[in-house]
Amino acid sequence: MEWITIAIAFALPAYLAFKWARQEDRWAWPWAIACMVFSYFGLLAFVLTREGLPTVSEYARKYPTCVTERGMSCYRCGSRSIRLWREQPFIAVHQWHICNSCGTSLYRSR
Ligand SMILES: [Zn+2]
Repeated sequence: MEWITIAIAFALPAYLAFKWARQEDRWAWPWAIACMVFSYFGLLAFVLTREGLPTVSEYARKYPTCVTERGMSCYRCGSRSIRLWREQPFIAVHQWHICNSCGTSLYRSR
């Protein structure tokens, strides 16, 4: 089945780039198209050019109103439902905190 190969080689990286770019507030469509053309090389470029998220204290300094008694809230929609996203690309483990209701990446904790 030829189309499965095409889907895995081009549609999947494009889909992931689109999804991640939206989460990280980056250009979703240009990245999706770049990954459609360059396949996983585009996705690699996306990961390498990724800007580091602020740490918890940087986030608290930037959005002081988001620090509540019951934890952090999202600066975009005010939701306190924040999900933890663990990522282990190499040896280091990254933990991203992503808003559950609008999908914005908020800060990292390591
Ligand atoms: Zn939100």
